[in-house]
Amino acid sequence: MREVRELIDLLVERHTLSLGQYEELVGSYTPELAEYAAKRAVAARRVVYGDDVFIRGLIEISSYCRNDCLYCGLRRSNQSAERYRLSPETILACCERGYELGFRTFVLQGGEDAALADTLLCKIVSAIKAAHPDCAVTLSLGERTRASYQALFDAGADRYLLRHETADHAHYARLHPSELTLEHRLTCLRDLLEIGYQVGCGFMVGSPGQTASTLAKDLKLVEELRPAMCGIGPFVPHHATPFAGEPAGSVALTCYLLSLLRLIEPSLLLPATTALGTLDEHGRERGMLAGANVVMPNLSPMDVRKKYELYDNKAHAGSEAAEGLAELRRSMGEIGCRVVVDRGDVRRR
Ligand code: SAH
Ligand code: SF4
Repeated sequence: MREVRELIDLLVERHTLSLGQYEELVGSYTPELAEYAAKRAVAARRVVYGDDVFIRGLIEISSYCRNDCLYCGLRRSNQSAERYRLSPETILACCERGYELGFRTFVLQGGEDAALADTLLCKIVSAIKAAHPDCAVTLSLGERTRASYQALFDAGADRYLLRHETADHAHYARLHPSELTLEHRLTCLRDLLEIGYQVGCGFMVGSPGQTASTLAKDLKLVEELRPAMCGIGPFVPHHATPFAGEPAGSVALTCYLLSLLRLIEPSLLLPATTALGTLDEHGRERGMLAGANVVMPNLSPMDVRKKYELYDNKAHAGSEAAEGLAELRRSMGEIGCRVVVDRGDVRRR
């Protein structure tokens, strides 16, 4: 046990470990080790961000998707999924409401919807930036061409979230149909970084076929890619996917990995995700206590929230909703954190 703790101390000091050392850290998980990692992670976060919690208003702009990721309820083979697409006017109205509530970042997320062409998206992004020049716009719309990413950046988009899902090729192939590859996912991430976005990668915890060895590769990728953000959350099965009967990922392991990510890169923007809040009513607080510093309440119109069903029972009410911001402020306050009105940009060392 003492030796494994020493690996955590080494990570605090050097922000790098070998693949084998990451694998040992992940494989040696115990509640005690996680508690130690969390203590060091919160201290590391405090140096860069204090106890500030950044909030992002999540607007789920389309549930159409041309892809067929095996884990996701929006996959094209799921004929029972309800499909919708928000109009530009509705998206702008969501931002308007969000601004009044105190959001200074809007995240436009959706499936890979062919109808979301560059011209339309650029119009939406520039309209949001014109209405709210003090806000950041984050896009999370999957794999697009480099030219498309460039056009959206030129239109004013500041950040892009594209989880790599797993940094292991064979594992990637188990989670996706053959037309989707880790290689292409990484090309997209590198394009986004080169263009100048604040980029977020990330992965699910407990996805079918995941091991300590694949997780070690995920940690190493974050260390090497140096993204501004990293979104991780437990895998949660969806009833109408091939992974329907699989067990959900572990909240405790997710929190431990949040701590390790914080120690790899103290300036990382790390959300305590909706999936964490879905599996555990105190999941987001637990995430913060492990070193996270971002939450992304749902700002989508009420009538579409149920339809954006990535996984079963996805939380979208209470403090998971933008309307529950007062409750979020209170629950974060109880654990010594403070929800701030701020764009919440990355603070590089
Ligand atoms: N289509 C875009 C964005 C929407 S999906 C994209 O794929 O990048 C956003 C994220 O939801 C995915 O990156 C994936 O990590 C997560 N997700 C999908 N299905 C999930 C599930 N069953 N459990 C947990 N997370 C899931
Ligand atoms: Fe589509 Fe994203 Fe779901 Fe894959 S994870 S099916 S790309 S919405």
